[in-house]
Amino acid sequence: MSDLSKSGDVAQEVARRRTFAIISHPDAGKTTLTERILRAGGAIQMAGNVRAKGERRRTRSDWMGIERDRGISVVTSVMTFHYGGCVFNLLDTPGHEDFSEDTYRTLTAVDCAVMVIDAAKGIEARTRKLFEICRLRDIPIVTFINKMDREAQDCFALLDEISNALALDVTPATWPVGRAKDFVGTYDVRTKKLNTKEPLEEGDPRLVALEEECGLAEAALPEFEQEFFDEGHLTPVFFGSAMKEIGVTDLLDALAAYGPPPRAQPTETREVSAVEDKVTALVFKIQANMDPNHRDRMAFARVCSGRLTRGMRLKHVRIGKQFALHTPQFFFAQDRQLVEEAFGGDVVGLPNHGTLRIGDTLTEGEELRFTGVPYFAPEILRRVRLDDAMKAKKLRQALVQLAEEGVVQLFQPQDGSPPIVGVVGVLQLDVLQSRLQAEYKVPVGFESSPYTVARWVKGDKAALEKFAQVNRTSMADDLDGDPVFLSSSGFMMNRAVEMNEDLTFHDIKQIG
Ligand code: GDP
Repeated sequence: MSDLSKSGDVAQEVARRRTFAIISHPDAGKTTLTERILRAGGAIQMAGNVRAKGERRRTRSDWMGIERDRGISVVTSVMTFHYGGCVFNLLDTPGHEDFSEDTYRTLTAVDCAVMVIDAAKGIEARTRKLFEICRLRDIPIVTFINKMDREAQDCFALLDEISNALALDVTPATWPVGRAKDFVGTYDVRTKKLNTKEPLEEGDPRLVALEEECGLAEAALPEFEQEFFDEGHLTPVFFGSAMKEIGVTDLLDALAAYGPPPRAQPTETREVSAVEDKVTALVFKIQANMDPNHRDRMAFARVCSGRLTRGMRLKHVRIGKQFALHTPQFFFAQDRQLVEEAFGGDVVGLPNHGTLRIGDTLTEGEELRFTGVPYFAPEILRRVRLDDAMKAKKLRQALVQLAEEGVVQLFQPQDGSPPIVGVVGVLQLDVLQSRLQAEYKVPVGFESSPYTVARWVKGDKAALEKFAQVNRTSMADDLDGDPVFLSSSGFMMNRAVEMNEDLTFHDIKQIG
């Protein structure tokens, strides 16, 4: 009996979770929208802090000197708030594309993405790239066309552009009332309700235009269909102005009303449904402690199923040991609160001293490994130059720790030469250098390496060994000991691929 009521609770709690991220091209208004969303969700103190006065954001993550200096947000944080009877987890992603790996991993932990588009600029390069990542996982997308209070492209042209550029069906969920400086609110296409900042008189030209446009839209565009949205084929489109706080609650109301709730997560052996009773969790992000004197870290884990409670002991599947949840943390706005319980769909912070890594699975005992957290083959490969030879061992430890956090990827050449670090964006190298100096007191420089392309190599043992022997100077092991072939050019890599048909070469490694 008690078991039954417990499972009922889990299902109910899971059903009201909404875990999402905002994706956009820089300057489209992600920060402003985040702030307005948090304000609508009652996290007002936070709202004041997402964007400090002045033009640079100052979030909690600002502890890192480099981040402050450059005014970019490097690390991902999580904000939890309540709205419309739902518990929302908003996963923040770094603004700068040099840290896109972090963003990609974060997208593996969400059920939905809000795509913010600048009404004047339409679809931009980074929006498209992030959208493609969402599509890989069939993540439902809600579109928010921002900055409607300024000169914007024609609404039909914008909808067409989204549809064509992303090969996605679009359906207007709201329609803007007035344009540019006369933009006063929205009209909800489904409930047929007006939501304007000021009352409009009958015959107001904005209402006349609205009627005509909505008629056209209805005739030309598909209606909202839950199933198509859930599958990621149809995006409901909201018009608004984050700055003027127009359209923000439309967006949250819709997320509360039609979700999506936490999705099932793939593992090597089966899909785990979020409403299962037993707890499972997936680590998708590691963040170093803000205090450089302590080497403890925070692992961000998505609870994939069940009810997680403080004090619980879970199985750390990769190392086959128990992991006790003494002080799991919720990220409610700025304050870290001790969690008593969390449910499928929630994100929790798990303090640890290096036992948890990106991609790790925690369970109540089942031998499961979640899949889908990606590593991307880096395009920038550098040798680490150490000036103080006495610190070689310390450097090695530091590099392993930082690689485990996902700051860089680490490749240990099989011929014993110095380690190679791989990054997707050059700013990652700056972060590595400054953290090695600040936290480990190991000053380093970087030297060019002969390599520009890295691929994970897979195949049967004998074929792999033979390949590694022939290419000894170009082989390295990654953090998990998986073999990586490093090559000086795309041409050389293609040759290796052609000449070794018994092996496969991969530019993405899925952890798990
Ligand atoms: P992010 O880079 O995507 O996080 O974008 P921000 O939120 O920092 O916004 C970029 C710029 O656009 C800032 O100057 C904002 O004040 C401005 N902005 C954001 N939303 C709106 C909006 O709805 N209307 C107008 N006019 N400006 C906006």
